[in-house]
Amino acid sequence: MMHNVHHMADGAQDVARKVGALNERNIVDHAAFAAEYQVNVERFWSKVDRPSPQSCWEWSGALNKGYGQFHVGRSSSSVMLAHRIAYGLANGKLPEAVCHSCDNPRCCNPAHLFGGTRADNNLDMTRKGRHAKVKNAIRGEKHPQAKLTDTEVAAIREKYARGGATQRQLAARHGVCQRTIAKAVLGISFKNVARQWVMN
Ligand SMILES: [Zn+2]
Repeated sequence: MMHNVHHMADGAQDVARKVGALNERNIVDHAAFAAEYQVNVERFWSKVDRPSPQSCWEWSGALNKGYGQFHVGRSSSSVMLAHRIAYGLANGKLPEAVCHSCDNPRCCNPAHLFGGTRADNNLDMTRKGRHAKVKNAIRGEKHPQAKLTDTEVAAIREKYARGGATQRQLAARHGVCQRTIAKAVLGISFKNVARQWVMN
């Protein structure tokens, strides 16, 4: 009996070791990305729960509107969304939109994240949310992490209300996540933009 218990414990440790190895293989630490964004990589991953390679890796640190957030930059003066850092560390680059295939905003598993790029790239860098300071009171396109302009949101709301496109089609066209379109058409975001076509 003692032997069996001991054997089971060894088995569990083996599984844990294998899961750990798989996790480490999934995380490609692109040093250039970490250096550019001044990310403390070890501290970052210490805040990500990784129960298995396939599961959602939920952020255990601070949240901002459901998304994990992490301080980066010199003397940790700036914040970035945790799933964007996870994507950047795994892929060595950061597209304008990083979307969740699992629809779990806290998830930082690179296997559940995919990038989108918008056709219109000649935008002010400050609007890309890179090293953006936290400014909760700012609404609409003036928000440093806004991915859409007020004009785009007005057009998206009208097109969606008239049945001209699905949320997924609008997301692809504007290079943002479907979740971003959903919040815009429901009037959860961009409260400053005319509500004539808001769907509620
Ligand atoms: Zn996930």
